[in-house]
Amino acid sequence: MYDGILLNVKRPGQYLGREWNVSAKDFESAQVKFAVSFPDLYEIGMSNLGLRIIYGLLNSLPAVSCERFFSVDADLEALLRAQGSWLLSLESRRRLEEFDFAGFSLGSELNYTNVLNILDLSGIPLKSSERGNKYPLVIGGGPSAMNPEPMHEFFDLFIIGEAEEAILEVIDLYRRHKDAYRGGGIKKEELLLSLSGIEGVYVPSLYEVEYDSQGNLKEFKPKFRGVPDRIRKRVVGNLNSSYYPQDWVVPNVQVVHDRVTLEIMRGCPNRCRFCQARSQYFPLRLRDPSKAIMLAQEMYRLSGYEEVALSGLSVSDYPFIEGLLQGLCASFTPKGVGLSLPSLKAKTLIGGVSQLIAKFKKTSLTFAPEAGSERLRQLLAKDFDSAQFFSALNQAYAAGYQHVKLYFMIGLPQETEEDLKAIVDFSTEASRMKKEAVGSSAQVNISINNLIPKPHTALQWLPMLSMEEAERKQAFINESARKNRRLKVNFHNFKMSFLEGILSRGDRRLSGVILSSFKRGAKFDAWSNYFNLQLWLDSFRECGLDPEFYLRPKPVEIPLPWDFIDTGISKAALLEEFNKTIAI
Ligand code: SF4
Repeated sequence: MYDGILLNVKRPGQYLGREWNVSAKDFESAQVKFAVSFPDLYEIGMSNLGLRIIYGLLNSLPAVSCERFFSVDADLEALLRAQGSWLLSLESRRRLEEFDFAGFSLGSELNYTNVLNILDLSGIPLKSSERGNKYPLVIGGGPSAMNPEPMHEFFDLFIIGEAEEAILEVIDLYRRHKDAYRGGGIKKEELLLSLSGIEGVYVPSLYEVEYDSQGNLKEFKPKFRGVPDRIRKRVVGNLNSSYYPQDWVVPNVQVVHDRVTLEIMRGCPNRCRFCQARSQYFPLRLRDPSKAIMLAQEMYRLSGYEEVALSGLSVSDYPFIEGLLQGLCASFTPKGVGLSLPSLKAKTLIGGVSQLIAKFKKTSLTFAPEAGSERLRQLLAKDFDSAQFFSALNQAYAAGYQHVKLYFMIGLPQETEEDLKAIVDFSTEASRMKKEAVGSSAQVNISINNLIPKPHTALQWLPMLSMEEAERKQAFINESARKNRRLKVNFHNFKMSFLEGILSRGDRRLSGVILSSFKRGAKFDAWSNYFNLQLWLDSFRECGLDPEFYLRPKPVEIPLPWDFIDTGISKAALLEEFNKTIAI
């Protein structure tokens, strides 16, 4: 049925499966069947490293078969619903309910309604409490699980932190009880109780919460003895010995990151106060450069990809970067294989590394000053040296680089119009320097996001900028940048940021809002052509909740909905940083 309708949809190649290096395991004979689902289109999901790691890892186990599900675009959804057909896995065309587990990678809060849509298109009840033993266990993980509470009603369990080791323990425990569980001999709650004993596993139905008269969280506690009070985030101890996919699945259609990704580090040695990724991936771990080069060679050999992207939170802080680039250049430059790098610190570009980078890539360079003024960069504890930046830029222009991309944020604490103007002045100077170096000014692409004071950061107690303020600040920057045609300013949609802020800082009461929004038609909330804020505002009204409540400052003495997660960075340490920020 599926194949019969694909000729009537856009980009049918994304639904075909059968890619190079895809798993061809026998579904029927697998002891445990795991569906890994990404709540966005194939082109986004196949660019996600976490999904690839879990897919490859689980398929490397003889007893497990892992297959993929992605969101389908509106045209295919309409046809499936009109025909009464179900969403099917890409590998063996199975329905989600045939699996033991439905695992969702939660990369963004704006994908939450897509999770519900995948379950709905699979004929699976949306709420955990409505799914009995015959349905798969629905597991969430990934960055947004750092505050899982808004989605608590839909998931049976979450894996908090890095899933590579915990997922094996979850599958092993399930496998031992599978026959009894599926046969009805063990209740779902009993199985979930056992699973809650695995470090990093959070089972929301085993906890209860209470709110005070102001609507703030008053208490969060386990319902039963033996259930952990706090969930310690899982961390892979040694990157060199952990699983990494080498037989990279090569999509049949172009995806957003169409290349192999070489993860060289996890965690970040810096302490930027706004950064949630720092807590999420804490502590810093490094992959050995010789192991990284060997992995890159294998990924190239097994996939045929002609581009290798280095990945890590702050690649510039990888201590072996020069040796690694030398090794990669020696292997790949003769073969015509390109290398790409994420945003860099200026200091990385000064000296030998600059010449190495110039050998393989001479298009654009990306930097993240985050704030235009030195004062605000200090307030964010952003390690960014302007003098080093402009000196490195001068060298880069001389070496042939044409464009620069700069990332900034607005809505920072104590931000003034002077600070906003500093974004434009900084970018103008970055453009002008090329004229000095090679005779013509550079095009500078400026990407401006709205600061979301996210959970587990030192800014988590701060309010978030209102939509009206964000709009006013954007207009001010646009007006200031208009005089320079070499500056291209791109703002992140402030309405989407508003929703992301609410969902990321939310509590259990938001499950009702998410469900109501989904029923009203919300989906693909990260896509501007689908996003409809009014649907969400109507749902808040229906649920009797004020969305602005979630964006207000949070008193430091009240518990936060995500306090039960232990990231390895204490709340006291975050509070100390917060106090330094507001004291500046
Ligand atoms: S913003 Fe970047 S450099 Fe700063 S802590 Fe986060 S990952 Fe590290």
